[in-house]
Parts: sequence; C-alpha cells; structure tokens
Amino acid sequence: MSTITTGTTATPSTPLVTRPRTVERLVQGQATSDGDGVKLTRVLTQNLQRRLDPFLMLDAFGSDAAADYLGGFPDHPHRGFETVTYMLEGRMRHKDSAGHEGLLTAGAVQWMTAGRGVIHSEMPEQQEGRMEGFQLWLNLPAARKMSEPWYRDIRPEEIPVWQGTDGEAGVTARVIAGRTHGVEGAMQREHTEPLYLDLHFEPGATFAQPLPAAHNAFVYVYRGTLAIGETEVRSQRMAILANKTPGTAGADPDGVRLAAGAEGARAILVAGRPLNEPIAQYGPFVMNTNEEIFQAVEDFRAGRLA
Ligand code: MN
Repeated sequence: MSTITTGTTATPSTPLVTRPRTVERLVQGQATSDGDGVKLTRVLTQNLQRRLDPFLMLDAFGSDAAADYLGGFPDHPHRGFETVTYMLEGRMRHKDSAGHEGLLTAGAVQWMTAGRGVIHSEMPEQQEGRMEGFQLWLNLPAARKMSEPWYRDIRPEEIPVWQGTDGEAGVTARVIAGRTHGVEGAMQREHTEPLYLDLHFEPGATFAQPLPAAHNAFVYVYRGTLAIGETEVRSQRMAILANKTPGTAGADPDGVRLAAGAEGARAILVAGRPLNEPIAQYGPFVMNTNEEIFQAVEDFRAGRLA
C-alpha cells in the first residue's frame, strides 16, 4: 500500500526512493589465493558475515595473466549454502560428483545450491586472455541446509536486461536475481529474497532502487566511480549500505540512489533478507553449529558428499 496518490497509472520506470541509504563503511578487499593458486580479492570476508547476513562471501577475480587463474579450483566439497558465480570475461567449466557438467561463458551465471553436499571442480577453459568475475556465497536457512543439491547454468541471453529511461537514461541493469523496475530477474529465492544487479552506467547517469530497510545491502564498484549520497565509491571498493540513517529518529531509508562519475561506472548491487541464525563456518562448509560442522567433515571424509 502506498499513501501517495499520483492520480495516474504511473509506470514503475522511475521508482520512488525519497530516503536513500547512506554508506556505512567502505571496504577494500583482501588479496588472497584459493583453489590451486587462483589469485583473487576476497571482498566480503568472514568478519562481515553477520553484518551482511545472508551473504557469506564475495570473491572478485580478474586477471590477464594466465598464471593467476590456470590452476582453477580442483575437486572440493560444499555444504549448507548456495554459490553464485557470475562470469564477466573468460570461460570456466564445472563438473560435480552427481555427474553434472557445464561451461560458463562471459555474462553467464551458475547458481548452485550445495544443500547437504556436493563435490565439484571449477576449472578455466582457456590458456590465455582475461578471466574476470565474481563468486558470491548466499546462506541457506537452517531448515534447508540439508536439502538435495541443485544447480542451474544461466546462459547470458537468459538474464533479463532493464534499460533506463528519463532520469535513469544511460543505465543498464542485468537482473540476475530479484527484480528492478518491474523486470523479474533470472532467479528468485524465498527466505533470503536476494537482489543481484549488474549495473552499467554511462558518464553521469543515475539509478534508484527501492530496498526494504531490514535487508542488508552492498554495492561493489568494478569500473569507474559511483557516488552514493555524499560518499564517493571508487573502483574495487565495496560500500556497505546503512540500514538506518545515522543521526535521524525519523523513518527508515527506503532504497538507494547511485550516480556515476564523469567516466561512467560498472557495479554490482546485492541485497537480501537476513536469516538471523547462528553461522558456523569451516572452509567450504557453512552450518549453524559446530556439531554440524564436525558432521560435515566426517561425512566428507567418509565419502558421503559424493
Ligand atoms: Mn566451489
């Protein structure tokens, strides 16, 4: 229900965000390596899991040097959450213990629900050239952690695209999950209700997205510069968006407004409904209790995840 009457059947092309969120904190990721020596930046680290619930991890990878990615991610297990891999450039082949196999190309997404367990590999299918993308870990509610594993490869052309008009001309959104401006994304998830947009801004373009105040949200800029309120967010920085407007006792913020700098920008906007459940992580296993982690390790060693 809206208390605002416009007197027209207005198009939802320019959503109303009157109390935009501010930036609570800027985060510069940590350079690390994972798998068989793949160099990457861990943007959402373990100490931010509680703050950004239901998101557990965000890795950004991007390199023109084959030595940085050739090792790939040989066979490894997961249990208790979902992995969302988004390729910007390059080719990555995945295989899992259930016999599934697929090739991720530029612009494709793999959405995998590890559930009670899967063993898989994620290997580059190129010897040279650029490899770039993101892997986001999305938690599962306790009641779903031991569900059957599932995955979907989403081809680039299956990801809906929204093109801004009027005040949002010059912005393009690839709608990976959730919805924007009436466009349904490729994936919808109950419980965590994730929003995942890949936004491309021409110089000076602006974009607004309504967000429930209780949902945790962040923006990661990977080209150019974005302004969020008074805060400038440069490339390779994550802005954690405040759920409350500091210093005001008034109404909660109702969304976010983003404005590109003079050279344009590219960024992902990610938001979701927190689960507010205990988080216990040991490497590739994310459960609610230590006992469940011990069980996951024991099941893996006994071959019960394959
Ligand atoms: Mn994996």
